[in-house]
Amino acid sequence: MAMQPSARPDSDHARINTGTWGVWLLGDNWKQRVRILRCLGGGLVYLLVCLLMNWVAAHGYLPTRPVLAISGAIGLTMLTFYAMLRSNMNLRFRDASLTMPQMVMAISYAAWVYTMGGAARDLMLLTLAPLLLYGFRYLRPLQVRMLSAYAIVAMGSAMVWLLYAHPHTYDVAQELLRFMLLAVIGVTLSQFTRNDEEETTGFLQFLMHLVFSRDPKQRLRIQRYTVAAVNFVICTVVLAYSVSVGAVNETAGWVLGAYMMGSCLLFYVLLRSGFNLRFADPSLTLPQIMVAITCVVGAYAILGESRGASLMLLALALVFGLFNLTASQARLAAFFALVAQGLTMLAMNTLEPGRYPVRQELIHFLFACTTLPTISLLAGQLSDLRSRLRARKDELAIAVERIQTLATRDELTGLFNRRHMAETLALQKKFSDRGGRVFCIGILDIDHFKRVNDTHGHGAGDEVLRNFAHTVQRELRESDVIARWGGEEFLLMLTECRVGQADAMMERVRDVINSKLMCPAHPDLHIRFSAGLAEQRFDEEVADTIERADQALYRAKRAGRNRTVLAS
Ligand code: GH3
Ligand code: MG
Ligand code: MG
Repeated sequence: MAMQPSARPDSDHARINTGTWGVWLLGDNWKQRVRILRCLGGGLVYLLVCLLMNWVAAHGYLPTRPVLAISGAIGLTMLTFYAMLRSNMNLRFRDASLTMPQMVMAISYAAWVYTMGGAARDLMLLTLAPLLLYGFRYLRPLQVRMLSAYAIVAMGSAMVWLLYAHPHTYDVAQELLRFMLLAVIGVTLSQFTRNDEEETTGFLQFLMHLVFSRDPKQRLRIQRYTVAAVNFVICTVVLAYSVSVGAVNETAGWVLGAYMMGSCLLFYVLLRSGFNLRFADPSLTLPQIMVAITCVVGAYAILGESRGASLMLLALALVFGLFNLTASQARLAAFFALVAQGLTMLAMNTLEPGRYPVRQELIHFLFACTTLPTISLLAGQLSDLRSRLRARKDELAIAVERIQTLATRDELTGLFNRRHMAETLALQKKFSDRGGRVFCIGILDIDHFKRVNDTHGHGAGDEVLRNFAHTVQRELRESDVIARWGGEEFLLMLTECRVGQADAMMERVRDVINSKLMCPAHPDLHIRFSAGLAEQRFDEEVADTIERADQALYRAKRAGRNRTVLAS
């Protein structure tokens, strides 16, 4: 049996020829099959959700008839999408997977179920997160934003409807709280869109990009921030424990916990949304440290007997600045920490003199006064060290660049030098041997250049060389290369061109040279040149081609100069 060439799944026209029921169900085009399978997968999830809803309705937690109605509507919608995909109608749209309409329908159904109320309605809010997450993968940023906006509006309308239909069952304040939460999450999620230039591979990588951003610099910042965020979370857990064992007043614990988690989330959103890029220090180190200090000082105020431990955290907050702050910023952070700590001690001593006695506060404060400035001093020294290292690095980069220039360029004209040209020619030779592309070599020599030096001086001679070099260079295509081969000799590499074309090009250069003054200080000085041209032969060494061009140049000189001779 003859082998079928395997169809590649990356084209709308790739077809498969297997006569199974799978073809009947999914079609014979690979790309369409993937779309249909994805749609059927979504349908399966819907089927499960509908079964679940009906089961819940049978137990009296949801109204039976609306649930039946919505199940029917969902079934009909899925069938419609399947029919559109199977009949290839979807190919008429830019978004051939119909992701956007499918998501809009999904959000609409979630909002519809929400209007049925009951305790299960929060689940509908929850379904929005995976839905939007799915959208990030396949939709463009604008579409994701539109979808988030639609989700907020649809859910908001469902809430209003619920309150309007059952004013006594549902509480305005509660629904408002849900709505605000939804709005915040929706707006935040809609910032995390994919970048169209890059294709994601693998879901894990996609998630990594989503959480940590695609931009490598931003990713590094967010990954570094995670260390701080973990600290915030641990401190909040410890705080919750302190509340549970009665060491901390419950209300005060809640307020501080909310403040800590709120700031933690806020910094993440600032970093992930790219808002941080508007500031001189995009890592937002100083603001993070300042906020951390207020958290620690807050903890000091409510921890009572265990407050001494919080001083350690004050030091920790400053340590975060060691690698990022400038010396003056580090001083500012330490100063802020001392002032905030001192004021808190003063306030607590006034409010609760029994729990916060003067003598103990003074001891704590003196401790803080010795530790914190020391840390800021160390941070300053590290900062100096960093700037010195950076300066070294910059100097080194400049030096390397200079060395590269010296190694490849001619000092007088700035053209490539002989060594670099030899390498370029060798490379072009390999290239043309593999691809069979022809290139030409031309050698240009200024006529009677010695006279220029003798009559007008070496300075004028140098100026002529510079102007001549740049004038010729401007006439070349970008793929052609010119180099200074010797004193007043230049070598041209003309790629992808036969010798006839090279000759025509040389005459064009000649016209330009003839029409221009190469040394404006001496208007009577006219520069002419002779040239030899050779086409590189397939079985010929580059050195031999150069030799033939040189011979041609010699013949041009012999024949009276100011002309081009083609090598035989
Ligand atoms: P021909 O038409 O036969 O080429 O005559 P020519 O005078 O141009 O040739 P020749 O090789 O006899 O002289 C070349 C001169 O170019 C000699 C040298 O002093 C001068 N020259 C070489 N390099 C430089 C340079 O960098 N600057 C200046 N001003 N002159 C240079
Ligand atoms: Mg010469
Ligand atoms: Mg010469």
